[in-house]
Amino acid sequence: MVPTPQYAGARVVVMGLGKSGLSAAASLHASGAAVEVWDDKPEALTAVTQKGFAAFDGARMNLKDARAIVWSPGVPHSFPKSHPLAVKARAEHVPLVCDVDLLVEARSEASVIAITGTNGKSTTTALTAHLFREAGRRTEVGGNLGYPALDLEPLGKDGTYVLELSSYQLELMPHLAADVSVLLNITPDHLDRHGGMDGYISAKRRIFARQRPPRTAVIGVDDEPSQALHDELCKDGIHRVVPISARRAVDKGVYVQDGRLIDAMSGAPATLLDLNTAPRLPGAHNWQNAAAATAAALAQGIPPATIAAGLMTFPGLKHRQELVAQIDNVAFVNDSKATNADATEKALVCYDNIYWIAGGLAKEGGIAPLAPLFPRIRHAYLIGAATEDFASTLQGKVSFERCGDLKTALAAAGTRALAEQRPGATVLLSPACASFDQFKSFEERGDVFRAAVQIMWGQKMSGVTQ
Ligand code: ADP
Repeated sequence: MVPTPQYAGARVVVMGLGKSGLSAAASLHASGAAVEVWDDKPEALTAVTQKGFAAFDGARMNLKDARAIVWSPGVPHSFPKSHPLAVKARAEHVPLVCDVDLLVEARSEASVIAITGTNGKSTTTALTAHLFREAGRRTEVGGNLGYPALDLEPLGKDGTYVLELSSYQLELMPHLAADVSVLLNITPDHLDRHGGMDGYISAKRRIFARQRPPRTAVIGVDDEPSQALHDELCKDGIHRVVPISARRAVDKGVYVQDGRLIDAMSGAPATLLDLNTAPRLPGAHNWQNAAAATAAALAQGIPPATIAAGLMTFPGLKHRQELVAQIDNVAFVNDSKATNADATEKALVCYDNIYWIAGGLAKEGGIAPLAPLFPRIRHAYLIGAATEDFASTLQGKVSFERCGDLKTALAAAGTRALAEQRPGATVLLSPACASFDQFKSFEERGDVFRAAVQIMWGQKMSGVTQ
C-alpha cells in the first residue's frame, strides 16, 4: 500500500466506494487522515461503514475544513447532470481528486509515464511497463489498469509508475506532473460525461499540464483532434513534442511503415524491428501502441536494442486477441474486450478461416460495418440477445448457426475447426457486443471461454500461452 501522509490530520471525504475508493480510504486512514465515506448507493455505504469507517452526512453535506473529496472517476460530477456534492465542493473550493492523484502527490520523487487515448490505453500501458522492466527499471503499473493506484508498491526516485489514465481520471488529477505524457488517439467517446467533444478533448489535454522538464509529450498524429493538439503543443515551445504515427513518416518521431518500426526521434531514421514478427502485437492497430511505448522508452533513455527485444517478448493482455491455445493448427483466440464492431474489426483483419463466435448485447449499428470482412469468416456462431439482429445481417452472406450460449458456440466452433483443419484456422471469440446479458463483465466472458477451451480440449493442447 502507498501511504498518503500529505493528508495526515486532514478531513477527507471519499465519495464512491468501489475498489479504488476503498483502497483510498484505507490508505488515508492508515496515514492519519480523518476519513468520511460516502456512496449514493446505501448498500455500498453500509458495507463500508460496517468496516469501521465514519459515514459522511450526505444530507447535510457539511464540507467545513474538508481538504479534498476523493471522487470515484466512474461517478458523474458535472455531466450529464451535476452532482449536488460536486456543486457544493466547487462552491466551497474543496478540490475533487481521484486515487491516482493521491499516488502521484505522495510519490512525487518517482518518475511518471502517463498514458491516455480513446483506444489502446491498456495495451500501451502494459507494453511500456514491460519495456521498462526488461531494461531493469523498477516499475509499477496501474491507474485505470489492474489494481487500484494506492495498492501499488511505494517507489522512490529510482522508480517509475506507468499509469493508464482515462479522461474521467484526468479531470481529477491536479497533482499530475508526468515526465512523459502519451496521447495515443482521440475519437468521439464518453461525450455525455464531458458535455461534448470539446470537453472530452480538454480532459485529454490535461495529461500535458504541469509536466516535468523536459516535458516529453508523445502524441499520435493519425487523427485530426490529436494532430491539432500536437500542433498546439509545438507552438507553446515548452514541451519536447514527439509525434508518432502508424501510417506515415514523421519528423523527429517514431513511426511504422508496412510494419517496420522506425525511430527518427533524435537522428536519421533507423529501423528497430519488423512488428509483423512480434507475436503478441497482432494487427495494424497495435503499431500505434508499439510506436507510443517505444517513444516513451526512448525518451527515458532505454536503448533501442532493449526495446526491440522487449517488443518481441511482450506477453500481451488478457481478452485482447489473447491466444488461449493452439490445438492441431487451430488457434483459439479470446478477444472478449471487443464490445463493439470497431474493436472486432481489428481482430477480423488479422485472420482467415475464422470460426467466429459473436453476440451479446449489441451496440447501435450492430455488425453491418464489418461486411467487407465477412469473406474471412468460415462460419459464425451466434450467442445472446443479439442473435436475431446479427442473423439478419449475416443472412445470405455468411453461414451461421444460433447457439444460445458461449459454451455451446465454442463446442460447435472448435469441433468443426478441428475437423476441417483449414490453413490458419482460428476460433475467435470477438463478440462485437457488451456482455451483460449473460455475464458480469467482458473479463468474465473471456475467462469462461478460456476455461472451456481447457476443459474441452485440454488433453490435446500443445501450448497454452498466457
Ligand atoms: P483501452 O484500454 O483504451 O480500452 P485496449 O488496449 O484495452 O484499449 O484495447 C481495446 C481494444 O481496442 C482492442 O482489443 C482493439 O480492438 C482496440 N485497439 C487497441 N489499440 C488500438 C489503437 N491504437 N487504435 C484503435 N483501436 C485500438
